[in-house]
Amino acid sequence: MVPNARTRPALSQMLVAFLFLLFQAQLLVAQTSTRLEITGTTMGVVGYSVVAVADADLAEKLKSSVAEELESVNQRMSTYIDDSEVSRFNQSTSTDWFPVSQATAEVVQKAQKISELSNGAFDITVQPLVALWRFSKDKSKLTALPDKSLIAENLRKVGYKKLQVRLDPPALKKSVPALQIDLSAIAKGYAVDLVARQLQAMGLDNFLIEVGGEVRASGEKPDHSSWRVGIEKPLPGAREPYQIIELYHQALASSGDYRNFFELNGKRYSHTIDPRTGYPVDHAVTATSVIAKDCTTADAMATAIMVLGPDGGIQLANKAGVKALILSNTNNQLLATKTANFPSNELETALEEGGSFLRLVGIVSVFFLLAVLAMAIGVICGRDRIKGSCGGIAALENPDITPECSLCSRAAECNDLKKELKKRQTDSDV
Ligand code: ADP
Ligand code: MG
Repeated sequence: MVPNARTRPALSQMLVAFLFLLFQAQLLVAQTSTRLEITGTTMGVVGYSVVAVADADLAEKLKSSVAEELESVNQRMSTYIDDSEVSRFNQSTSTDWFPVSQATAEVVQKAQKISELSNGAFDITVQPLVALWRFSKDKSKLTALPDKSLIAENLRKVGYKKLQVRLDPPALKKSVPALQIDLSAIAKGYAVDLVARQLQAMGLDNFLIEVGGEVRASGEKPDHSSWRVGIEKPLPGAREPYQIIELYHQALASSGDYRNFFELNGKRYSHTIDPRTGYPVDHAVTATSVIAKDCTTADAMATAIMVLGPDGGIQLANKAGVKALILSNTNNQLLATKTANFPSNELETALEEGGSFLRLVGIVSVFFLLAVLAMAIGVICGRDRIKGSCGGIAALENPDITPECSLCSRAAECNDLKKELKKRQTDSDV
């Protein structure tokens, strides 16, 4: 209907009324939305937290559905639960298609993609080696390094090309009966993404999810600032941030060798295994952090970069279009290598600026001390007072052109000088 002269005022009134109602509704949402926080434990000992800007009455629903989602990931993908989907696939020696859930197939498909991108540095079929190095269910201490022949034997079971995945219907297939998979390096990231999807389905846009140190942020905090998360300083015992990162619709995941390792004959062995050699990675890289759009990618990439080290790691990150930070530890000194687009470290800059200011203060102090020392030596050698202590009198001269200040060396002469100066002052005033 085309508006005529009679309907036009009614329309504009309706528009005003509509805008007013919209404004009121927004106010109402702003008033009822609050900061909800849920914390708990999943996957055995992994802590998680979800902070969301949501209606207070959503709290219970949020709590139970987050716990349910995380539990479902654990029941499907854990190698610690004997009847999980992954454990049953690992126990099977069949080379036929093995039906799995959509979720497990999705994670394996993503893992295979990252294996291809990283030329096998990331490889979920590494499980037999993870078990051999006692980083799986059996964590009993190794008293000697595994035999080379044992490593070679296990390497024959490993290789992402020996594993196939399909989504419809979801299933996995091994080409060698002894092949086993381990999703530990990607499942936490996937769990974060799953919870994010669930929150979005509940109509929430502003939240921060963390599962075992892997994080994903959406929107902003209740005060409209960005979500901020810390990258831990990867030194044993140092529970402090190395860098604070602002995340906006992004995920951040980290891998490290400073928490999960064992020591044998004074040497440290990391839980990250190089699937190409069969040995734990052995380089100075102590931690990696990756920022990506989704947390599944960030988690797997952080492990892949941990295997590849600084040069290969940066190349992979650039190829995959993710931001990466690689920290190497040489004698407890951290060296950072990062992709050009990784956020700069404000903490480090502040420390550097603070450091250079302190250096300046130090240099000035040394010069000052040297000057005082030089003057003191001059006094001692010349048996004379420091001229500067005459308060400028040194600049004056007696009629015989000797500096008046030299008189100050003896108290009696100093009094004579003062009298003489006073007399001269009176004469000139007259
Ligand atoms: P974190 O558990 O500290 O976040 P990661 O995400 O790097 O660490 O996962 C490390 C785990 O992944 C190891 O404990 C092992 O189970 C498995 N793993 C080790 N090496 C590899 C690898 N090269 N590719 C895939 N998974 C690996
Ligand atoms: Mg990982």
